[in-house]
Amino acid sequence: MNIRRKFGILLLAMAGLVCPAAANFNTVVIDAGHGGHNLGQAVGGVYEKWMALDTSIRLEAYLRRHGLRTVMTRRGDYFLSLPERVEIANRHARNSIFVSIHYNGARNTNAAGLETFYFGRSGYDLAVRVQREMVRAVRGNDRGVKFARFHVIRHTRQPAILVEGGFLTNDAERRRIMTGAYRQAIAEAVGRGIIQYRNDLRRGRAR
Ligand SMILES: [Zn+2]
Repeated sequence: MNIRRKFGILLLAMAGLVCPAAANFNTVVIDAGHGGHNLGQAVGGVYEKWMALDTSIRLEAYLRRHGLRTVMTRRGDYFLSLPERVEIANRHARNSIFVSIHYNGARNTNAAGLETFYFGRSGYDLAVRVQREMVRAVRGNDRGVKFARFHVIRHTRQPAILVEGGFLTNDAERRRIMTGAYRQAIAEAVGRGIIQYRNDLRRGRAR
């Protein structure tokens, strides 16, 4: 083995140590927010926990159709603590990404649109792609990609994001979110963002 080759392998090994998340992934851990007694946003009998679970199941189907493996932190209406969600995610940390699905709420009922939260650098690269696809898919107000210290994106060891697919506290947006077509559009947009991220990782265009 010549010196240049040795040096190249050393550099690759170092990059792996600094940036383990750059490894290719074949699994998406899907985390439907809230559940059980934890309703999330609750407006006029519409519960975030149900909208998030339905969207998560649609995302699961989309990703499987596109050849990815999926792990759901919950598949029913039961309570799951934040550390339990992280524990499930971290069992798959080596070859996965983590996506938490939520719908938003605010005291200001005019607030509307989409936002995606990240904590780490690779989460940011994933968030940018998912946010862009969601905004396009539902022609929503782009509230941007934002840094946050939310438990599930801070303590998971893989690239992780938390998606807010619209405001249940906004009358017009809630009516849209209540339709299966809207939730399908959000699920597919998140799925497209994930696949773009995966392709860009492989091409070295994302971390
Ligand atoms: Zn939520």
